[in-house]
Amino acid sequence: MNTVASRLADTPAVRDVVLAAAAAARAKVRGEVPELGNAMAHAWIITGPPGSGRSVAALALAAALQCTDPVDIGCGRCPHCHDVFADAHTDVLRIIPAELSIGIDRMRAVRTEAAKLPTVSPWRIVIIEDADRLSDAAADAILKTVEEPPEHTVIIMCAPSIDPEDFSPTLRSRCRHLYVPYPSVGHIVDLLVAETGATPEDARLAAVASGRHIGRARRLVTDPDAQQRRASILNLAELIFHHDEAFKASTAFLKTVDKQVKSLSDEEDAGELEKLERSLGKGGRGKGTQKAMDGSSGMVKDLEKKQKMRRSRRNRDFLDLALVDLAGLYRDALLLSVGADVQLTHPDFEGLSRDLAAKVSEPGLVACLDAVTMARGHIGVNVTPTTAIDGMIGRIRLACGVS
Ligand SMILES: [Zn+2]
Repeated sequence: MNTVASRLADTPAVRDVVLAAAAAARAKVRGEVPELGNAMAHAWIITGPPGSGRSVAALALAAALQCTDPVDIGCGRCPHCHDVFADAHTDVLRIIPAELSIGIDRMRAVRTEAAKLPTVSPWRIVIIEDADRLSDAAADAILKTVEEPPEHTVIIMCAPSIDPEDFSPTLRSRCRHLYVPYPSVGHIVDLLVAETGATPEDARLAAVASGRHIGRARRLVTDPDAQQRRASILNLAELIFHHDEAFKASTAFLKTVDKQVKSLSDEEDAGELEKLERSLGKGGRGKGTQKAMDGSSGMVKDLEKKQKMRRSRRNRDFLDLALVDLAGLYRDALLLSVGADVQLTHPDFEGLSRDLAAKVSEPGLVACLDAVTMARGHIGVNVTPTTAIDGMIGRIRLACGVS
């Protein structure tokens, strides 16, 4: 499971493009051909549904380019392959934004980084995950780099699609496009077993319950908090039938999410603040130090703003994923109710979805699904989570005929 080819085995089209690009790049570096040719490009946009493995494809392309094995491109064994996949390669810069929107300052810094010569390998590679979060100004800031990249630089961006909503059309026209389809359940199982040591059974459940979303599946097998959130939200569908239990449970659920986001963020925030203060000379002696600290309150404020945005994004992401889980349960109930023979999203909750299918009419289950979709939309436009979820519970109660 370690070579580039094996990591992309499930998406042969992607694998072939990546290996052909790396082969063309290698031929150019070795001086065997004068030009890069059509297979390789300096700027890439990798798209696919969230969790399809866009980041895996981006890393695989980077590893294939940096690999030094003379025969097996993307061998998975050489130090370069190893470092790229471990996210520790000197010449590969990976931007994983935690904030909702990637600002212009970040991209100015990337522009500077991208212009540097590689130090230990033939290519300087910049990977920008979630490039759909680039602000217009930020996209403009790297346009020139994408348009006329330095000879040794490769920029790889990832986004859900090349729709103008998701990715800057100006950048789009300058990038080679690579589409990554959803991986199969079997592929995710192999990946998780190899990567996390999960049992094949747990890995399979995570792959199915996450809707074949690699990142979520990975979190489900490794993070007990994520398992707990999933169980809480799915149980809500049962509590709907018990007076105001669902409202009580949702209040508790939102509190838990807040707490989990807090514990995830507190340490990270403190570490960042400490690092910033140290770089500003806090703890030093002398008048100069004090002066520097006085002038730095703006930078501290900026950091705090960024951290607050990250918390709010995390909170929203957790809630949205929970609602996706809940929608999966109502979908399962609907499929059982019409007698469709398909893989359930939540096989471990089959009892509950069968129960729902027996108690609630088909139009009722469709209305439940609509209620969940509506709540996801509400949370997306900054309605408070409590309002959005309470509204949803009210609608689901009606749809289930609970008065
Ligand atoms: Zn290698």
